[in-house]
Amino acid sequence: MSQTWWQKSIKPIAARIVGLAARKPDAANEHQATIFVFGTKLLVTLRGIDAATAQAATAKLEQQFQHMQRNWNAWKSGELTDLNQAIADGRSMAVSPHLLGLIEMAKRFESLSDGLFNPALGGIVGAWGFHSDERPMGYRPDLPAISTLALRKPTMGDVSIEGTVVACTNKWVQFDFGGFAKGVALDMAEETLKSFGIQNALLNAGGDINSMGNGGACPWRISIRDPKSSGVIAVITLAPDEKIYTSGNYERFHEIDGVRFAHTLDPRSGIPVDHIISATVIADSGALADATATALTVAGPRDWHRIARKMGVKYALLVDERGGIHLNPEMRARISFSSDRAFTLIESPPL
Ligand code: AMP
Ligand code: MG
Repeated sequence: MSQTWWQKSIKPIAARIVGLAARKPDAANEHQATIFVFGTKLLVTLRGIDAATAQAATAKLEQQFQHMQRNWNAWKSGELTDLNQAIADGRSMAVSPHLLGLIEMAKRFESLSDGLFNPALGGIVGAWGFHSDERPMGYRPDLPAISTLALRKPTMGDVSIEGTVVACTNKWVQFDFGGFAKGVALDMAEETLKSFGIQNALLNAGGDINSMGNGGACPWRISIRDPKSSGVIAVITLAPDEKIYTSGNYERFHEIDGVRFAHTLDPRSGIPVDHIISATVIADSGALADATATALTVAGPRDWHRIARKMGVKYALLVDERGGIHLNPEMRARISFSSDRAFTLIESPPL
């Protein structure tokens, strides 16, 4: 990455559109900071506190994100790459409580998603060329090697935990937490903000959003981006403490002979999914919303409803490559469409 991974500016702000969050001009005591984390810009909006508290809380967040960035990355040397090496060597390894928590959650989400969310397939994600900061250009994946890897069926079920020690019976398992690390990180950031007495905050990491509180003076109003244009499909007002995450094929992909390969893989084949453009999920935790959005991207138009129900989320919206919008009636009732583009609405039974 050419930019330093975090840059910060904190100041009281007047109203403006920032990322996907539109705000009213009269939000009292509002402060904003920008932090670079996980290769994306995190916009932190804090309300109802003084500037000194906002400054101190943001500094603490930055410190924590630095730690996560270092230790949860699948391709830069840190605790996670050490663990991946241990698994490849057939060794078990004691890990930190943070990493242990991540692995426990990953096991739970994999099982809830019927294996469609599978953070054990890091070897295959890497083989497709996605373990780099830049969009892979001119990289030609070794397809026979990828199908051999997929046949080894790396899953979280191969992984066991005893105390702080992680062991694995399948040396082809390689962790890649890119499918939900952002959600976990923003959930942890909320705990930090609470320890500073902050009750109202919006954490917006490129459209993946944790809201805290009801927004105070005015509710948090969010735009859902149109994956096919730079515009907006719909807007939604978040209920207090809701999180909204979107997974998409449209930003991170690999082009081979004019064909786009998405960075989300179907664990059953090891091949990038090709049916969904974006999947948006609302849930009570960032980790669940993030993992489910990734799982629904894999599930696609046919299976998303079953998986969303299994994962326990109440609101989902998927955009397919033909401009069809698949959503549940509860989601339909909450959003206001604000696009000139014609979409076909495909409403599912309730979740
Ligand atoms: P997201 O943007 O949250 O959907 O996360 C996409 C990232 O998750 C990819 O860049 C991979 O690092 C990882 N990933 C890809 N496919 C899967 C999958 N089926 N399950 C879990 N993680 C995945
Ligand atoms: Mg995700």
